[in-house]
Amino acid sequence: MNFKTDLNFRKETLIKLLNNIIIHEDDIIKALYDDFKKPAFEAVLTETNYVISDLKDTIKNLNKWAKPKRVLPSLLNFPSTDYIYKDPYGKVLIIAPWNYPFQLALCPLVAAVAAGNQVVLKPSELTSNTSAIIAKIIAKTFHVNHVEVIQGGVDVSENLLSQRWDYIFFTGSVSVGKIVAKAAAEHLTPVTLELGGKNPCIIDETANLKLAAKRIVWGKFVNAGQTCIAPDYILIQKDMKNKFIDYLKEEIITAYGNEPEKSPDFARIVNAKNWNRLTEMIDNDKVIFGGQSNESSCYIAPTLINEYDIDSLVMKDEIFGPLLPILEYSSAADIYTVVSKYEKPLSLYLFTENKIFAEKIIQNYSFGGGCVNDTIIHFLNKRLPFGGVGHSGIGAYHGVSSFDVFSHKKAIVKKANWLDLPVRYAPYKDKLDTVKKLLKWI
Ligand code: NAD
Repeated sequence: MNFKTDLNFRKETLIKLLNNIIIHEDDIIKALYDDFKKPAFEAVLTETNYVISDLKDTIKNLNKWAKPKRVLPSLLNFPSTDYIYKDPYGKVLIIAPWNYPFQLALCPLVAAVAAGNQVVLKPSELTSNTSAIIAKIIAKTFHVNHVEVIQGGVDVSENLLSQRWDYIFFTGSVSVGKIVAKAAAEHLTPVTLELGGKNPCIIDETANLKLAAKRIVWGKFVNAGQTCIAPDYILIQKDMKNKFIDYLKEEIITAYGNEPEKSPDFARIVNAKNWNRLTEMIDNDKVIFGGQSNESSCYIAPTLINEYDIDSLVMKDEIFGPLLPILEYSSAADIYTVVSKYEKPLSLYLFTENKIFAEKIIQNYSFGGGCVNDTIIHFLNKRLPFGGVGHSGIGAYHGVSSFDVFSHKKAIVKKANWLDLPVRYAPYKDKLDTVKKLLKWI
């Protein structure tokens, strides 16, 4: 078993993983349903099929990504050929969250294996059915010394973090991200932190409101709003607000019917703790649509909130649930006041036909990534690096970026022996002028 240097071995195990995921796809979909009633359609689109497609892409490109990349040499080293080798870090720890419990555990794992690392994966304890099927698939696919799943909660995670790793890849909340960063600093271990934030969705007076409503309802309420890149709040030009709210209501009814609780297409909140956290944010005086909830099934309806107060409870932190506050703005200064109140978000969405306005927002605000005239779909393009900035994260992955995350870039100069210019060697007497002339050319 030489996963560090044997590309064929890496590829074979990834093919085995692909086959085992395909064999167990129904079990994974069932586990996701048992965990938080994730609709089968969403399970396939955002979890199983996403990972399958990621695996196929990785297997197809592995040789190309792993190959040492030749770069132009420096004239100072003449004659040489220069390369960047992609070197596995070694022992990698991956800690995953519960909200896309299969995809967010498996995609980093696939990349870490592809890059030649040894992996320990700690999936979320809150989605225990999915974690169990992940553990089963991994045990069937890999030797335990190559890839291992360790299930458990905070204590298990803390124990893993107290050990020394060569790389840590963490997806989860900002508060736990800080704990991970501190633990990693103890051993100077490099990290990727995929965190969260309060994602603005800005709509100006030129936007196609009906289409915006449809795309926002989808991006916000998929997974019952428990998506790190879901629009957190709407910031709309004030004259457009009432019309837009009507469209939002129409789109919610079209998607989930008049009783979303009975819809097979709407997931549940993951547990009672999060249900309590979210229901506390609902101020009934501000609810303009939805607002219903059911503690026994952890249900919260898609809810629209007419919000004027950026200091309200729902505007304090990342919502991470099916509550959508709608704020209005009159000027660019209003947009700045709201967006800059928070740490740099993971995503920002903009609905507008005004290209100058779009460019201004893209260039003036710092955020992980986003879309113009849509929501969350930047996640789907493997050619776009996915990650946050500031408090929403450190580092980015997807496609070749995932392979690069788990590879140290080793710089190698291969010097030829047929010529050995004497100028750099001591004694330096009378060589300074020559060196100065040489350096001017380069
Ligand atoms: P979380 O931070 O509570 O938990 C994530 C993981 O960390 C779990 O495996 C958990 O067991 C572990 N953990 C929890 N507390 C810990 C502690 N004190 N010490 C060590 N480990 C600990 O996050 P979550 O509730 O599972 O997920 C929701 C958060 O994740 C949201 O903030 C969301 O925005 C973010 N998220 C980000 C992305 C992204 O790609 N950027 C994707 C999904 C979720």
